[in-house]
Amino acid sequence: MSYDALNIEGPAADDAPVLLSKHAKYFVRFLRLLPSRLASHDSTRGTIAFFAVCGLDVLNSLHLLTKEMRQNIIDWTYGSLVIPKPGERNCSGFQGSRSVTIKTDDEELLRNAKCYQWGHLAMTYTSLGVLITLGDDLSRLDRKSIVDGVAAVQRPDGSFSACIDGSENDMRFVFCAAAICHMLDYWGDVNRDKMFDFILNSIRYDYGFSQHLEGEGHGGTTYCALAALQLSGQLNRVDTQTLENIKRWCVFRQVDGFQGRPNKPVDTCYSFWIGAALKILNAFELTDYPANRSYILETQDDVVGGFAKWPHSTPDPFHTYLGLCGLSFTGEPGLMEVMPSLNMSMMAYDKLKVLHAKWQTRNIEEDHKHYMELLSQRLYDAKIAVEEETTTTITSPLIKAQ
Ligand SMILES: [Zn+2]
Repeated sequence: MSYDALNIEGPAADDAPVLLSKHAKYFVRFLRLLPSRLASHDSTRGTIAFFAVCGLDVLNSLHLLTKEMRQNIIDWTYGSLVIPKPGERNCSGFQGSRSVTIKTDDEELLRNAKCYQWGHLAMTYTSLGVLITLGDDLSRLDRKSIVDGVAAVQRPDGSFSACIDGSENDMRFVFCAAAICHMLDYWGDVNRDKMFDFILNSIRYDYGFSQHLEGEGHGGTTYCALAALQLSGQLNRVDTQTLENIKRWCVFRQVDGFQGRPNKPVDTCYSFWIGAALKILNAFELTDYPANRSYILETQDDVVGGFAKWPHSTPDPFHTYLGLCGLSFTGEPGLMEVMPSLNMSMMAYDKLKVLHAKWQTRNIEEDHKHYMELLSQRLYDAKIAVEEETTTTITSPLIKAQ
């Protein structure tokens, strides 16, 4: 379709193989070397780690990371954890990098930097995804503090902001909030009824979901809305006719690949956003698998690996990961099953369920109290901080850079 529109003859992608090992090397490269053109993504570096680590998992290739490198990534991720001390505002969660975690003896500078140290819902979601996928047991974080941080950014209309100091509030962060609470198996003061109302009020006339109430229906937003409903155990509150209408809107987004909105060009990432939305609705089988695969394969870079959003475009970790997930839904050989609503492999989700079973025997209030006691005694600081000067095993500029 895209080739027709551009009047360019494209490659025959129908029978092209998915270059599994090239994609794995592509992800490993991003964990070892961050290209300078991505410098503007410094504050969201955790998301690049998420796409690379979870991408390797979907490729069943986590073994390409040495045990030492996996531990480095885990330690680096914990280095972005913000933990408010008792009495401080509820801003717990992960940041996307440690660019505002500075080392200095200047008290004023430290005070100023602290103003910008708060958890960000998207970074918290992706950081938890990295930790779970790498098999961490999450014992270095306090589940209650993080969910308190989620509840603190819920708006009166039921939506969520990204962080406590204000940001856009829309369906992206509704999804992140639901994913975090589901992963931590705790909802605390998060108001799920209000979350439900916000989501249902965002269904537009054509049954796509909009980012924020009066907006236009959108594929990524529709995924966020449906995943949040499922993760919060509220999908069954939506009536059957509405669900059928949403399915129809999603199915009609297929051209060969999928588009995010009517009359827009197809884009690799929507093979995940719309594909996963239909998976959640148990309607993915209504799509044309070969046409979907063929489009995604048109965007594959057969030289350096990775997928782009369009043919003849530069691949990136985001479209590479979501393209692979989209292919996984079609049963592509060599790719692991993906859990649609959490956007991670089913193998990682199984690891998470083991943690959930373990947490069943715990009292979260007691754990929180204990964690805070340790924190106030500063016994945990040494465990959480990643001291660069004493860490000689860092192997990646992505992980090493502050
Ligand atoms: Zn895209």
